[in-house]
Amino acid sequence: MSQRTFSIIKPDAVRKGDTGAILAEITKAGFKIVAIKKISLSKAQAEGFYHVHAARPFFGELVEFMASGPIFPMVLEKDNAIADLRKLMGATDPAKADEGTIRKMFASSIGENAIHGSDAEDTAAFEIGYFFAGLELK
Ligand code: ATP
Ligand code: MG
Repeated sequence: MSQRTFSIIKPDAVRKGDTGAILAEITKAGFKIVAIKKISLSKAQAEGFYHVHAARPFFGELVEFMASGPIFPMVLEKDNAIADLRKLMGATDPAKADEGTIRKMFASSIGENAIHGSDAEDTAAFEIGYFFAGLELK
């Protein structure tokens, strides 16, 4: 069944000019881009997005990084979108990511790993609503 997920092309990938190449991998894999925009997050906005990680030792670094430059948040749709995007992204640490995954191709470290993807239906719903209004999701 068709499902929506949420993704972000992170600041490292945008800075390197990899946005177009990453979008090509995503559309080649069969995802439809429902919504996309370019924005820069404040630290408070980045903290709100990653609130589930607030207690983790790397939280400060993560927030600093996500607020370090423009990002492309987007909503993607296909059958089994949440799990399939996670597979296409590869492991959090690009050194452990499989060949052909976006993180293997475009990420440089566990902190600067090119792309975000929702990990479950409830987090996808929260994340889509954090970045997009209903009228942007037709
Ligand atoms: P994301 O949520 O961004 O899609 P993920 O689900 O693969 O990534 P999470 O465990 O949710 O991984 O961690 C969120 C983000 O925090 C990671 O993408 C990474 O940028 C950062 N992160 C995770 N673990 C570490 C770590 N050990 N050191 C530094 N940064 C980390
Ligand atoms: Mg995650």
